[in-house]
Amino acid sequence: MKTYKIALIKGDGIGPEIIDEATKVLDSVASCFDFDFKYEEVLMGGCAYDETGDPLPQETITAALSSDAVLFGAIGGEKWDSLPREKRPESGLLRFRKELGVYANLRPAVVYDELINASSLKPDVIAGVDLMVVRELIGGIYFGEPKGRDENKGWNTMVYTKDEIVRIAHTAFNIAMERSKRVCSVDKANVLDVSQLWRETVEEVAKEYPDVELSHMYVDNAAMQLIRDPKQFDVMLTGNIFGDILSDEASMLSGSIGLLPSASVGSKIGVYEPIHGSAPDIAGQGIANPIATISSASMMLRYALGEVEAANRIDAAIKKALKEGYRTQDLAQHDAKEVCSTSEMGSIIANYTAK
Ligand code: NAD
Repeated sequence: MKTYKIALIKGDGIGPEIIDEATKVLDSVASCFDFDFKYEEVLMGGCAYDETGDPLPQETITAALSSDAVLFGAIGGEKWDSLPREKRPESGLLRFRKELGVYANLRPAVVYDELINASSLKPDVIAGVDLMVVRELIGGIYFGEPKGRDENKGWNTMVYTKDEIVRIAHTAFNIAMERSKRVCSVDKANVLDVSQLWRETVEEVAKEYPDVELSHMYVDNAAMQLIRDPKQFDVMLTGNIFGDILSDEASMLSGSIGLLPSASVGSKIGVYEPIHGSAPDIAGQGIANPIATISSASMMLRYALGEVEAANRIDAAIKKALKEGYRTQDLAQHDAKEVCSTSEMGSIIANYTAK
């Protein structure tokens, strides 16, 4: 029997609630196969700051680097918003991604047929949407120097080196090769020098993938096109801040931010996490949608552990739960058979996974 070592970072807000459901489903699927999980729970974010004075204790980095994968909930909350920047939960998360070298954030946005009416867009616009945002994660304006502020001025710098663009472009083209072989690179090359380098470099990398069709789009247009005609996209390749915004936008195609998973991968250990934050407004109420996190666990099985069959099983169980009409409150509409709590939704998916 194979045992996978998973570093679990529950974090703040709804983080613990949604991670508990993901491990419930992972344990359930493992019981059908010849593997199990050994979880090591470590702290990050506001809870880590409260306990240790550091939002990213060294122990967490060490545990992550000695695991097979990291399953991550969410961090942050108002309680820690007034701390100096380096002590804030979000700084811990950025440092964590850098330490692990996870430069590529893969964010699939799929519209489930069962939820076609949950989106704020018309069914014929979103039916069949299946796109992947490939976001550069450890460069760009969130990390660029110089940055700072004084009383009257605040400044950040958007920087990309050629090497950083080359490696994320390869990720996007390789993913496109497994999908519909189309990459749309999103930038702001009409205004930003950094985007001009981005565009030229992506063009160069594209020569190595003659089967993939490359197009370019300015980010403002991409934001509009995602709403106007999302089916035109297969793989969207973009930098850190543009990808952050576009993937949240893409989440609304599917009906709720509580549905979308992500995988952050690079040269070392991958981090699997929902795209949403710690949702302090609903924390502790048992109403958070755990599907984004359960789906992230499925991506972990698929990409980090190579357990494709188990991942397919979880994906099918999520679909079945939705098809049967089970909905958490964020998705509850007239078509809901039953409005479930976070834990009920986790249990339903876990049961379907085991069957
Ligand atoms: P958020 O994603 O936490 O919440 C946005 C809205 O979506 C809220 O109304 C929330 O209730 C809802 N929502 C989010 N996840 C949900 C789920 N699973 N089920 C149902 N509804 C859900 O974004 P925010 O409110 O801008 O940020 C809250 C905190 O999270 C901030 O401190 C922010 O810095 C942090 N944050 C953390 C991460 C991360 O850990 N990766 C990402 C984004 C934001």
